Amino acid sequence: MQCPFCGDDGNRVIDSRIARDGAEIRRRRECDECGRRFTTRERIEEVLPRVIKRDERREEWDRVKLLRGVEHACVKRPVSASAIERLVDGIERELQESGEREVSSGAIGRRVLEELSAIDVLAAVRFASVFLDFSSPSDYEAFFAEFAPAAGSGIDGGSGLEEDGAPVASPRAVAAGGPGPHGPRPLGARR
Ligand SMILES: [Zn+2]
Repeated sequence: MQCPFCGDDGNRVIDSRIARDGAEIRRRRECDECGRRFTTRERIEEVLPRVIKRDERREEWDRVKLLRGVEHACVKRPVSASAIERLVDGIERELQESGEREVSSGAIGRRVLEELSAIDVLAAVRFASVFLDFSSPSDYEAFFAEFAPAAGSGIDGGSGLEEDGAPVASPRAVAAGGPGPHGPRPLGARR
């Protein structure tokens, strides 16, 4: 970044602000050489991938939809609104950094489950029961074995688990991934 007045490369940022509804960062810089100030503008590329649904339809990324799904799972659970925001922010950032053009709804749901089970296991169960379309006690057992091994014993899967939620993604997309051990993995690494 050269100074427009003297052409020197050295400068420091003295102020940064997001402008134009988050699409642009403006940085105020001061030249190390001549001391004059100038402004640079950088575009923030919107690189959120599209979501592949269970039926192979593609949808635009929908932050609000994910937020609502997680909020619904956290109703009456001790999970703060800011914790939910952070979770969704983290998922969005991962998606952005992955650089993928498309990501399956199943992969997104799985990452939400990993994050949510670290915050509140019962909220995660509730999310999973909608998202994975739980229909039998063995579905809950499989959930606990995978996402909350330490909390698996002694929790009655039937309590407080309404299934009236709006799933953020289609249920079978994750089920089709098959059983087996999964650690947390970045969204980009799905092959
Ligand atoms: Zn200069």
